[in-house]
Amino acid sequence: MQATFNQTLIELVLGDITQENTDAIVNAANSCLAGGAGVDGAIHRAGGPAIMAECRQIGACPTGQAVITTGGNLKARYVIHTVGPIYRGGTHNETHLLESAYKNSLKLARKKGLQSIAFPAISCGIYAYPIHEAAHLALKSCVEFVRVNTEIQLIRHVLFDQRTFDIFAHEFKKLT
Ligand code: ADP
Repeated sequence: MQATFNQTLIELVLGDITQENTDAIVNAANSCLAGGAGVDGAIHRAGGPAIMAECRQIGACPTGQAVITTGGNLKARYVIHTVGPIYRGGTHNETHLLESAYKNSLKLARKKGLQSIAFPAISCGIYAYPIHEAAHLALKSCVEFVRVNTEIQLIRHVLFDQRTFDIFAHEFKKLT
């Protein structure tokens, strides 16, 4: 499923983000950049120890912010590590923090001159964000960004399971 917004193709696919060949893939990291379960663990396993060595040098990343490392053994040249909010009822600035995680990742990609980027469903696993709302915010953040920034040509949302894909697809149709 795909649609063009301004100069950018936004795409939804079902798959494993570690296999993506976009310039960068985004990691749903934790603020200590310590690795962990979920997509974070999968990216470090597939990318090898060089990524964690760079994360240790960087040290930490506050929620809503993003940092960049090389892609180690991945096909993607870079990994952008961003930290989504842990969902705590929706009253702890979660909306703003989730939007910031997407937008700051995109800003970092643009700053590096990258043309394509793949996102997982940030905060939709262990961090327990309600998926409909997270999908809406993910897509809205990307669309808002590409309306005013034309450098990135492809944004791919890589959803790991059919249910998450279907929810993203439902929210995507509302925007097209
Ligand atoms: P968070 O802590 O931000 O919630 P998780 O890694 O627990 O991060 O989950 C975020 C999303 O990433 C979930 O939808 C999960 O199913 C998905 N996910 C897990 N492994 C992969 C993978 N290899 N590729 C893409 N998405 C993945």
